[in-house]
Amino acid sequence: MNSQRLSKKQQGEEQILGSIKLLFIEWILEVLRSVSIYFLNKKARMEANNYAIENDSLDMRTVPPLVKRNIIHNQEILDNRWNLCSSCEFLTESNKCKKCGCFMKVKHKLAFARCPIGKWEKYTDEKELSGTYLTS
Ligand code: SF4
Repeated sequence: MNSQRLSKKQQGEEQILGSIKLLFIEWILEVLRSVSIYFLNKKARMEANNYAIENDSLDMRTVPPLVKRNIIHNQEILDNRWNLCSSCEFLTESNKCKKCGCFMKVKHKLAFARCPIGKWEKYTDEKELSGTYLTS
């Protein structure tokens, strides 16, 4: 009887311990997920910036996957950005921005991009980007 009660007590303790272990594992996985997203975002921004600095047009055959996933398809947003850039005093004849050094035909299509002097902001509508956009 006593040993039965002890084993029930042990079972209860093991269940509690098991729950704590599961919670800890879930917490670790959540931390790892957040850290991965943070670094993927950072990598995507760097790749997007480098691509916009080195390429004067978007070539879907060569664009890196993380950059490709962050191309905006919303024509209204694209037109709005391009109208602001094309009438900007800092845009050169080769469509390069004197402020950030990027080719704007490329950069204005990238969700992560933002105008360095605040004429337009980054685009964060995840639905529009088919759920592939990495949140910042
Ligand atoms: S990114 Fe901003 S500063 Fe550069 S050309 Fe466009 S509007 Fe002008």
